[in-house]
Amino acid sequence: MSFQGEVVLVTGASRGIGRAIAVQFAQEGARVAVHYCRNRSAAEETLSSLDGGPHALFQADLADPAATRALSDAVVSEMGEIHVLVNNAGIYEEHVISEIDFSEWQTAWDRTNKTNLIGPANLCYSVARHMIGNGGGRIVNVSSRGAFRGEPSAPAYGASKAGLNSMSQSLAQALAPHNVFVGVVAPGWVETDMTTEHLAGPDGDSIRGQSPMNRVARPDEIARAVVFLASSGIDYLTGCIIDANGASYLRT
Ligand code: NAD
Repeated sequence: MSFQGEVVLVTGASRGIGRAIAVQFAQEGARVAVHYCRNRSAAEETLSSLDGGPHALFQADLADPAATRALSDAVVSEMGEIHVLVNNAGIYEEHVISEIDFSEWQTAWDRTNKTNLIGPANLCYSVARHMIGNGGGRIVNVSSRGAFRGEPSAPAYGASKAGLNSMSQSLAQALAPHNVFVGVVAPGWVETDMTTEHLAGPDGDSIRGQSPMNRVARPDEIARAVVFLASSGIDYLTGCIIDANGASYLRT
């Protein structure tokens, strides 16, 4: 899985799964465009942990459509091109239907969809157009087990990730004639800042017990699946969704 000479844009790479993805691509020889939203110092930490290079940092709020276009343009202008796009950035915010008022409900749906679905869709637009002009590329989107299993405390999250799965599969069909291949990794629980509170709380043991391995995933395990889906020689896997959930939720 060599990515020597390839440019990989990883969104949300300042921490968590995104940082692990950036690290593994760099280990495989890629030049990484490390995207972050607000936390520049954490993004700089990611940058300084990467092998090889030169890599670069890029800031953008992906909920803003204009920013997604500017991000794609900035990476192409600074790094030459984009061979691989990883839409990893996302948010998980609880909005329990029986407990919140209508305006909070709307805010949660709006923010979640803008970040988890519309942002990736807009970035796919700009980057895929660039890839088409370049003769091809690969896109990997990070979804969630919640798209299949349900998210009772965060229904917008589950819906946004189900939408991301569907969009990825539609784009796999639309882009295959252009040599652009699209895949999805759908993790279950992963040990990151997003889940620290849940895993340390009273539900921690039962969350770990959802998998017969009696643990949640490490970010590097999810990153390995992302790097695999972005690699060459597996073009015919386009449109596939890899479940990375420790057999905690099986579907056929
Ligand atoms: P994290 O909270 O540690 O990282 C998320 C990243 O997304 C952060 O770097 C954040 O800055 C970025 N981000 C959020 N909103 C943004 C915006 N508007 N614009 C730009 N960037 C923004 O989370 P993580 O656990 O590393 O999750 C990474 C991905 O994996 C997410 O898409 C998440 O939904 C998915 N996922 C995580 C888990 C888990 O258990 N941690 C499980 C399934 C799926």
